Amino acid sequence: MLTNYKILVVDDEYVVRGFCAELLRLEGAQVTAASGGYEALSLLGQHDFELILLDLSMPDINGLQVLEQVSAYYPHVSVIMMTGYGTLEAAITAQDLGVEGFILKPFDDKQLLSIIGRIIERQQLRQNYARLQAHMPLLALSHRLMVEQDVKKLAQSVLLIIQREIKMKSASLWLLSSQFDVDHLNSDQSFVRLAMLGQPLNIPPNHDTISAWVILDSENGGTTELQNAKTLHFRLHIEERQIGWLCLSHQKTGLFTQRDIEFLRIMSTHLTVGLENRNLYHTINLARQEWETIFNTIHDGILVHNANKKGLITHVNQTLATWLDQTSKQLLHQSAKTITVDADGCSLLDIAAPLLADPILVDQTTIAPLSLEFSSPSWAKNQSFRIRTYPLYQDRKLVEIVHIIEDITQAVRVQSQMVQTEKLSALGRLSASLAHEINNPLQSLQSGLRLLARPNLTTKKREQYVDMMRKEVERLVKLTGQTLDFARPSRVGKEHVDLNQLLQETLALVKKQVQRYNITCSFMLFDNLPAVYAVPGQIKQVFLNLILNAVDAMPHGGVLEFSTHYTSYHKYAVVGITDNGLGISPQNQNRISEPFFTTKENGTGLGLSISYSIVEAHGGYIEAQTDPDKGSRFLIYLPIDLEEKHNGLTGHE
Ligand code: ADP
Repeated sequence: MLTNYKILVVDDEYVVRGFCAELLRLEGAQVTAASGGYEALSLLGQHDFELILLDLSMPDINGLQVLEQVSAYYPHVSVIMMTGYGTLEAAITAQDLGVEGFILKPFDDKQLLSIIGRIIERQQLRQNYARLQAHMPLLALSHRLMVEQDVKKLAQSVLLIIQREIKMKSASLWLLSSQFDVDHLNSDQSFVRLAMLGQPLNIPPNHDTISAWVILDSENGGTTELQNAKTLHFRLHIEERQIGWLCLSHQKTGLFTQRDIEFLRIMSTHLTVGLENRNLYHTINLARQEWETIFNTIHDGILVHNANKKGLITHVNQTLATWLDQTSKQLLHQSAKTITVDADGCSLLDIAAPLLADPILVDQTTIAPLSLEFSSPSWAKNQSFRIRTYPLYQDRKLVEIVHIIEDITQAVRVQSQMVQTEKLSALGRLSASLAHEINNPLQSLQSGLRLLARPNLTTKKREQYVDMMRKEVERLVKLTGQTLDFARPSRVGKEHVDLNQLLQETLALVKKQVQRYNITCSFMLFDNLPAVYAVPGQIKQVFLNLILNAVDAMPHGGVLEFSTHYTSYHKYAVVGITDNGLGISPQNQNRISEPFFTTKENGTGLGLSISYSIVEAHGGYIEAQTDPDKGSRFLIYLPIDLEEKHNGLTGHE
């Protein structure tokens, strides 16, 4: 079938013409008939044909002359020559002029259709070949875009590829300098010329006002007629954004064809997309390099592992690798289980266990990092670390776990020194009342000794005096014991402690001070308060700091209230120390926990900051509520399930 195949039948004989036209129409072709050579040429100028059936001898101009015109001006049209008495000479000439088939009259319909069939096959082959040819420069361009990293070299090779196709004399490629990281040589405003062939071509001076993406620059300044164009300016676009100019020039006008424009349009689309991709690739690469540098030079150790049972390590930075005495490469693909943080073998994977238990993200706001401190792991004896563990979600699914490990050895040492300084300062503040406390029993002892020295003392009386003196000595022993207990650096080990008892013990130290200022104490202690796992000396110090602050806030007496309770939901034991003293002014409220912030003449400003950090190191927090006229309340929250969470980990002084 020749469906819609466009054929021109040219014969001066009406019968032949009619027979051919009829036969071909029946096969589905679109047939036009001409009775002579001139008429045929005129029809060729007006319509598109794919095939001409051409009679060799016609009265006006013969078939060979028509064939000559067809080869020159319509080379894509195939020609079959029909003749009744062909000579060898005519056949050779016709061959030279590119005829594709000969058919001798008389011919039947089978012969004609078979020769047309062969020509159609050949035309299709030619078309495929042409298509392939048209793609070759695009393939070359794509290849360049992929392999060439240097944008200047890339620009130069693109111009060479275009020159091979278009054969223009000069070409320049301009790109937006802000878009492409290039130096500003040869720059025109924001565009920079990256490559040129032949003469340097500039971008149109008034390019901002031109809206077309192709600008045809003619000799007489017009911009529309392709035949008159000597120079073409192509805007290179990514969507609405112009990223450059491609300028091409022949030395003579009228040498650019419509096909060139089409070719350049496709080329520039490929080029802009390729350049944009290259740019994105560079941006990503740069970001990656920046990220890697930061990742490896940061002083904290960072480790990322998969959020599954194996916990295979996917990233580990230089700092942590050095601590672990391995290379990052050696650590990759090991399990996070191999990195332990204490003598009991608690590993990074164990630390992440609470996060791994919830692999689906329900509520963004509930994401909180796990935080833990540990000392002397097998890979860093005598050093202390704080680890923060974060979940990493993708599409709400837990995919990785990030551990950030901070070396806090120095901070722990400094804090421990500060704690000791603050302790001695607190003892200094207590010294007056301590002296008073010691003086009283000494006074009793002195009187007792005097009484004992008396003659004629009954045995009963002596026993009474000795008993009284023994009690006073016991009081002294207890008092000095408590003072020493507090003054000496406390043991670092955590144990189960009863907060009610710690509170009473601390209060015993300051009882005199409290009485001296006419302060009465009231208690609302929860009897069955669960034990917390803590360093008792440190917790006592927190209580002492808060009590002394409360006493200082009530110079003219007041009520000091102690309370304990626990929140079963949050699993915290809460100790409240409340005064009805001066309160804290609004401008100071945010500053009281800063080290060295004090409003007192002899204050150190360390009490609260140390108390806050002690409680935080225990996994708890302090809440301060205050009203400048009514007083202040400090609530100390300590987790009561610490033992399980921190099993095997030590706290710090
Ligand atoms: P210091 O007691 O040496 O000043 P702290 O860190 O213990 O250091 O306290 C800092 C400041 O916080 C105090 O100087 C005081 O202004 C304020 N402050 C702390 N506790 C109270 C309180 N119970 N009532 C009023 N002000 C307080």
